[in-house]
Amino acid sequence: MDLNYTPRQQAFREEVRSWLKANRPTEKLASYDTREGFEQHREWERKLFDARLSMVMWPEELGGRGCDLTEWLIFEEEYYGADAPMRVNQNGQLMLGPTLMEFGTKEQKQRFLPRMASSEDMWAQGWSEPNAGSDMAAITSKAVRDGDYFIINGQKTWSSRASFAEWMFGLFRTDPESSRHYGLSFLLVPLDVEGVTIRPIKALHGKDTFSEVFFDNVRVPVENLVGKEGQGWRVAMATAGFERGLLLRSPARFQQPVRKLIELYKAHQTRADRDPSIRDAVMDVWAGAEAYALSAYQSVSRLARGEKIGAESSINKIVWSELDLKIHETAMRILGASGELLASAPQNHDDHGWLEGFLFAQAGPIYAGANEIQRNIIAERMLGLPKA
Ligand SMILES: Cc1cc2nc3c(=O)[nH]c(=O)nc-3n(C[C@H](O)[C@H](O)[C@H](O)COP(=O)(O)OP(=O)(O)OC[C@H]3O[C@@H](n4cnc5c(N)ncnc54)[C@H](O)[C@@H]3O)c2cc1C
Repeated sequence: MDLNYTPRQQAFREEVRSWLKANRPTEKLASYDTREGFEQHREWERKLFDARLSMVMWPEELGGRGCDLTEWLIFEEEYYGADAPMRVNQNGQLMLGPTLMEFGTKEQKQRFLPRMASSEDMWAQGWSEPNAGSDMAAITSKAVRDGDYFIINGQKTWSSRASFAEWMFGLFRTDPESSRHYGLSFLLVPLDVEGVTIRPIKALHGKDTFSEVFFDNVRVPVENLVGKEGQGWRVAMATAGFERGLLLRSPARFQQPVRKLIELYKAHQTRADRDPSIRDAVMDVWAGAEAYALSAYQSVSRLARGEKIGAESSINKIVWSELDLKIHETAMRILGASGELLASAPQNHDDHGWLEGFLFAQAGPIYAGANEIQRNIIAERMLGLPKA
């Protein structure tokens, strides 16, 4: 592990920093959990793409700029450091994108990846069903082969921003005789076709974040199958690895709120110091964010040497989701009762949006695979303990 940045990496950092300084939106964008905000974020991410900064790690011919993982970490540090908007195209760019790189055909890569990099196509994730959450192998939505098409019937739920997205990637049972992990296939489904009904579900902050999606004889061409028919579980587990591992939650995403938390603490120090455990909590999350960053650099070095991360991505997921909770809980303790004011309240002076962040942080231990399940994975696959 080399802790020094190369001249190329330093030049890249400078380039990203000055581009963001000149181009970052000066007005806060509306929440991407609304139609208006979703489109504002799409436009911003299109601008990033035009500067070849939307997916820096992807090859140039697919809309990226061929950076390595260390350069990606640098990009993320600059992005969050500049207080640039949260990115909405993560399902596509950070989960389906790498999955297609690994399992997609040449045609699928050329058809989907550049449009994903440019945010022309936004993607929703279609895994959870009313009776298949943690136990995803219980999926019952069916895709029955009919010549050159799959005919999909069933229901997905909790699909983030499916109401606004153009496409969904999902797991469907293609072998009607199969059960559990067998006989599932990974399909790419357009959401604007006949037979798809999308109903929004409100999240804790009151916005239409989620959707349930119903499929009634939806026809999807076989060229939208990713990987082999019946082997969708393997493909989906690779996607889940990207979600839990480094890609979805880069360390900079936590280092920046910790910097803001320290500012918040200083601004409210007189009150916060009445309870010394708040000071300890601030130091604790600072240390946690720095440790997560160092561990990310170590993982990147290992990946660069050709090693795999595997089940360790479950540790990662627990660390970032619990860290996010602690950061926001500490902010709420510092703010006291005023932290509960909604953004719309005239007395609210919270420019950072701590309350919304606090509410979203509650979901961290649930999405991307609940933390209890991650602990089962660590126990069984890393520690060799008996099955739960
Ligand atoms: C913000 C957010 C965004 C999401 N976005 C999407 C999306 O875009 N697409 C999508 O498909 N889904 C999405 N989900 C759904 C998410 O994947 C599920 O909520 C998650 O997998 C848990 O499933 P469940 O809600 O059915 O809970 P359950 O599986 O019913 O779990 C309930 C509780 O029981 C515990 N539990 C269950 N089984 C075990 C076990 N074997 N051992 C120990 N404990 C266990 C769980 O940890 C949990 O605490 C999202 C969820 C959230 C919160």
